[in-house]
Amino acid sequence: MFRKLTRRFFFKSTLAISALAPPLTSTTQTYKSPAMAKTSPSSESIKAFRGSFLDCVADPFYVSQAESIRFIPDGLLVLKDGKVEAFGDFSTISGKYSGVPITDYSGFLITPGFIDTHIHYPQTEMIAAYGEQLLDWLNKYTFPTERQFQDKSYAQRIASFFLDELVKNGTTTALVFAAVFPESVDAFFEEAERRNLRMIAGKVMMNRNAPEYLLDTAKSSYEDSKRLIKKWHKKGRLLYAVTPRFAITSTDEQLQLAGKLLQEFPDVYMHTHLSENKDEVAFVKKLFPDSQDYLAVYEKAGLAGSRSIFAHGIYLSDSEFERLSKANCACAFCPTSNLFLGSGLFNLAKAKSTTTPVKVGLGTDVGGGTSFSLLQTANEAYKVAQLQRQKLSSFKALFLATLGGAKALSLEDKIGNFDVGKEADFVVLNPLATPLLKLRNKELSPAKSTLEQVSDQLFALFILGDSQVVHATHVMGTLAYTKNG
Ligand SMILES: [Zn+2]
Repeated sequence: MFRKLTRRFFFKSTLAISALAPPLTSTTQTYKSPAMAKTSPSSESIKAFRGSFLDCVADPFYVSQAESIRFIPDGLLVLKDGKVEAFGDFSTISGKYSGVPITDYSGFLITPGFIDTHIHYPQTEMIAAYGEQLLDWLNKYTFPTERQFQDKSYAQRIASFFLDELVKNGTTTALVFAAVFPESVDAFFEEAERRNLRMIAGKVMMNRNAPEYLLDTAKSSYEDSKRLIKKWHKKGRLLYAVTPRFAITSTDEQLQLAGKLLQEFPDVYMHTHLSENKDEVAFVKKLFPDSQDYLAVYEKAGLAGSRSIFAHGIYLSDSEFERLSKANCACAFCPTSNLFLGSGLFNLAKAKSTTTPVKVGLGTDVGGGTSFSLLQTANEAYKVAQLQRQKLSSFKALFLATLGGAKALSLEDKIGNFDVGKEADFVVLNPLATPLLKLRNKELSPAKSTLEQVSDQLFALFILGDSQVVHATHVMGTLAYTKNG
């Protein structure tokens, strides 16, 4: 595939220099192909985008770059009703869509929207809280902050800010912890619905080992979650996750009732934390002396399945990796949080091994995490890998942030790349967004790059980039954010 695309690029670059050349600005134009004008379809619900497209069609951890990475230097993405209608080389398919309005992003690099597989919206305002590891950090900063989310209007205001921040960073789907209060879930989903975002969220279930003001009961958490599932799950693009905070803050009875919800609603998600911090693991052992390990606490309650996403998983035993793999569970790798809270280093190579493969997505874990940007999250993921003598290439990081995240969330039939039929959430990146990036990336437009050059540019974007390099974000094809206002 690489050879073929590269060849096509060289051919095209001699024909379409004017479209590929800087300046890096986007415009909307109507492309007319005189030869095809009489026979081409035209519909108001159809629109198209031109630019350099990069996505994953398979998992580069398991198959070659040629089999997993799709780079189209001068591509056209045609959408109908927000979904991909056609995708390919501009010169090959543009003729079929004459009369269709084209937004021209030539000079930019367009990737699928980023997917954040673990984040807490009520912790937005307590990001960068100084000095503690997990359990003290929760008591000192997190719990008092989350208390405010019993006020619906307050929750609404933060949810709105939070979603704006995600989209500004190119994130179009996230798996989100709300707070213990059902109002906080309503507020979040109402804001996500207004933006037509594909979001997964749930009410936190927690009935012990936290301040009284933040506790529910096993029974109330079951009933509230059930009502919220009926209200929000599959409403538009929204999906529900049964969300016990972690084993420490739930009694066995509450975990069992969480499992009952999964039985009653088999297509909702399960979202919790697992083996993040050594003190946490020791505390779980004390609270559940009959469990062989941390994961077993969840397994006994029926919480480990193919729609279960466990954040962190730093201190997993071989047996736990094996069981996660067998049950087709996912882990959210949250490097900025793991470094910031001094939690530890996630063993990515082990999770992506062929012997015990576990689905992995990237999570920012704001507010334990320090950035909303999946680019910055990939930057820290690279360093966490380095500290363990592992490597994380730019294309593997791209996979984790897009198609890998979609697979972790069992959404690969809907999002994660530009396959025909998928929902068109995408991000327009500017590889030359800052003076330093211009210098680093040698002012080379991705439209004029080979696959290897794009790999290198993308690596620089991961290491040096954040929301500054996001030129625009589109949700179901609709412009949701642009740097130009
Ligand atoms: Zn978390």
